[in-house]
Amino acid sequence: MSAAPRIVVLAGGVGGSRFMLGVREALRRRGIDDTAAVLTAVVNTGDDLWLSGVRLQPDVDSITYALAGVNDVERGWGRTDDSERVNRELQEWGAGWPWFTLGDLDLGTHLARTGWLRDGLTPTQVIERMSRRWELGARLLPMTDAEVDTVVVLRDGSRLHFQEWWTRHRATLAPARFENPGIAAAAPAPGVTDAITSADAVLLAPSNPVVSVGPILAVPGIREALGATPAPVVGVSPIIGGRIVRGMADVCLTAIGVETSASAVATHYGTRTAGGVLDAWLLAEEDAALAEEVAGRGIRPVVAPLWMTDASRSAALAETALATAGV
Ligand code: GDP
Ligand code: CA
Repeated sequence: MSAAPRIVVLAGGVGGSRFMLGVREALRRRGIDDTAAVLTAVVNTGDDLWLSGVRLQPDVDSITYALAGVNDVERGWGRTDDSERVNRELQEWGAGWPWFTLGDLDLGTHLARTGWLRDGLTPTQVIERMSRRWELGARLLPMTDAEVDTVVVLRDGSRLHFQEWWTRHRATLAPARFENPGIAAAAPAPGVTDAITSADAVLLAPSNPVVSVGPILAVPGIREALGATPAPVVGVSPIIGGRIVRGMADVCLTAIGVETSASAVATHYGTRTAGGVLDAWLLAEEDAALAEEVAGRGIRPVVAPLWMTDASRSAALAETALATAGV
């Protein structure tokens, strides 16, 4: 049997976790038991924030909890069977953000993380340590160890943390642009560029192209690694039938002047033959008519079912992405 293919997935939170579950399952269905040895997620840390003295890493936690099977599937974030006693007490104190709920179990994660960061561990080391608690079946790497929390700049020039814009204002305040202060001087986390350049396939999860995949690609060196890797780079459209499946990514796309369509997002990522990041792009069956336009951009279109509504659909989608990458 040939060696198991090494897979790297660039991922945000919800779309990223569903897709990671799919890739892990697709590898297992191929008879690969030790998926952690071959599957790496490079996770967006632009959503990270300091709140009530603790460091939150929402996308890293979403993926960790999902792979561990302890995520709250209905709510879409946090831990299953969580309570909010500490959160209520914080609100009594007027601490934190009243519109941002921190579950008790979730706070345990943040306290552990913050303690280890204070002890001098890097975010990469903290994630590695946290990954040992459960059988995740994947290695998680932050895109960078630097703090590059996303800032939303509104049209009137005011600035707010991404989480405030997203969670408090439900993305209703028109953004002019998104910034990650400090990112130009940030480096990819240890292992990130090596994982990309030594992979057999690199997959872009159907994550928010602007505030999940955008920050990952903005870390100096990651785009270059994607350009240099001998592995095919295959992206999965987060847009199905001209609509964002979940969340508010359309507002983000509009802000950066990209239409909410599967072909416009592919064009935004661009072909690797001309400085972009994609070799191939998975489009939904609902968007089959856009395949020609994608091909015209020098990106190989592959039409497939893109709904990750259950584990088996997610695995089938991941299998299509792997097959498209030729692994
Ligand atoms: P976040 O960090 O929690 O916002 O999650 P991500 O950035 O990883 O993913 C959010 C994106 O996932 C949304 O904008 C959706 O477009 C996409 N998405 C969610 N569910 C599905 C699905 O079932 N299929 C596809 N193709 N995309 C999905
Ligand atoms: Ca996110």
